[in-house]
Amino acid sequence: MSADVVTGRLIDRFGRLHTDLRISVTDRCNLRCTYCMPEEVVFRPREELLTYEEIARVAAVASRLGVRTIRVTGGEPLVRRDLAVLVRQLVAIPGVDEVALTTNGILLADQARALREAGLTRLNVSLDSLREEVFERIARRAGVARVLAGLTAAKRAGFRMIRINAVSIRGLTEAEILPLAEFCRREGFHLRFIEFMPLDADGAWAREQVLSGAEVRAILERSLGPLRRVEQPPSSDAGQPAVDYAWADGGGRVGFIDPVTQPFCGRCDRLRLTADGQLRNCLFSTVEWDARRVLREGGDDPTLAALLRDCVAAKRAAHGIDTPAFDRPARAMYQIGG
Ligand code: SAM
Ligand code: SF4
Repeated sequence: MSADVVTGRLIDRFGRLHTDLRISVTDRCNLRCTYCMPEEVVFRPREELLTYEEIARVAAVASRLGVRTIRVTGGEPLVRRDLAVLVRQLVAIPGVDEVALTTNGILLADQARALREAGLTRLNVSLDSLREEVFERIARRAGVARVLAGLTAAKRAGFRMIRINAVSIRGLTEAEILPLAEFCRREGFHLRFIEFMPLDADGAWAREQVLSGAEVRAILERSLGPLRRVEQPPSSDAGQPAVDYAWADGGGRVGFIDPVTQPFCGRCDRLRLTADGQLRNCLFSTVEWDARRVLREGGDDPTLAALLRDCVAAKRAAHGIDTPAFDRPARAMYQIGG
């Protein structure tokens, strides 16, 4: 079969068009966040991880099937050597409009400029607390000063839209909410709160620990004044899971990603590629499609395209976290790619 037969779009049984690909480049990380990784971890052997060429090949086939945005994630993507080289390859794929990165920021100070020069446009930096003691309780490692240095370097490198992602966990992060909001308002970062999902490696997630976006909003409004929901124009970033709110005083915006209390499965446009080359149609998928095997057994582009189509075709209507039938995936967040 000729490579030219890769046509069509990735539309599932529920009419959802898939245009966003999340690529994990490693399961390794320099932090050990309790909601993601275990304290002691055995990483995948390096030879099981896709090479940059293999990743770019899957991305190129996906782009021929309508993928327009790519987010690089992990594990911690900046621990993988020469990540800017991959970014450059992804940016060069015809049809790809945007390449973004999610990082914990620990190594960002050294790499921000190279990433910007490689064509990275959007940056999400995860930061749950500005207080070192709380940061360490969550991440089991030190880090606030390095993340802040990374953010400064990112601004200097010319990243304009920098988002800060903070996970909300009842009994753990309530006191971090206001300081983070004030910091982001002052510095011009777009803060987003994410509800705790059942993807921690320790399997300790409990529904009661989910501090909902609505509760976080109430905490913010009590101290910083009213928030007004911002309606997204229909054309913009339709699969975007965050619901944005604007401060009444004009001091920027704050977003809420509420996968547990306000699932956005109905407008999900995402596909995932794990670091070891497995395609997934959902964070909570319990099935994977083996792209690495296709790549390493000499499969052609139409075979990869068929795998992508199969993966999308099997997507369920919703993750069902809040239903009795919910089945946790065998992999934790760091093994999937957030
Ligand atoms: N290491 C990078 C980082 O932390 O930004 C990228 C990978 S990390 C898995 C991506 C995002 O997933 C981070 O913002 C992290 O806070 C979030 N995350 C990890 N485990 C989560 C969980 N159980 N529930 C909600 N968000 C989670
Ligand atoms: Fe590492 Fe990111 Fe997971 Fe934290 S959330 S352990 S930084 S991969």
